[in-house]
Amino acid sequence: MHIQEFQNHMKRLYYYKDSKRGIEKTYIWFTQEVGELGKAMLDQDKEAIKNETSDVLAWLLSLCNLLDIDLEEAAVSKYGNNCPKCNKSPCECPFN
Ligand SMILES: [Zn+2]
Repeated sequence: MHIQEFQNHMKRLYYYKDSKRGIEKTYIWFTQEVGELGKAMLDQDKEAIKNETSDVLAWLLSLCNLLDIDLEEAAVSKYGNNCPKCNKSPCECPFN
């Protein structure tokens, strides 16, 4: 399944609820899921990490659906070829 297909799948599953909740509250849910991923990583809990990475992607796609962003198009446009900063592959940007 491609990102775009998965985004459409998430739209079928959740768009009605997402649009009722709205962009701001959906963004807050997304950031909470990022926090839960951080906790799972600190706990070194592999099952929880898998679970939370899935939630982060799901909430990001819900947000993209509300914002009318095609994440696959946006991500491939920015990162589909070389590094967008140094234009190399692999990236040769200095560590920061
Ligand atoms: Zn780079």
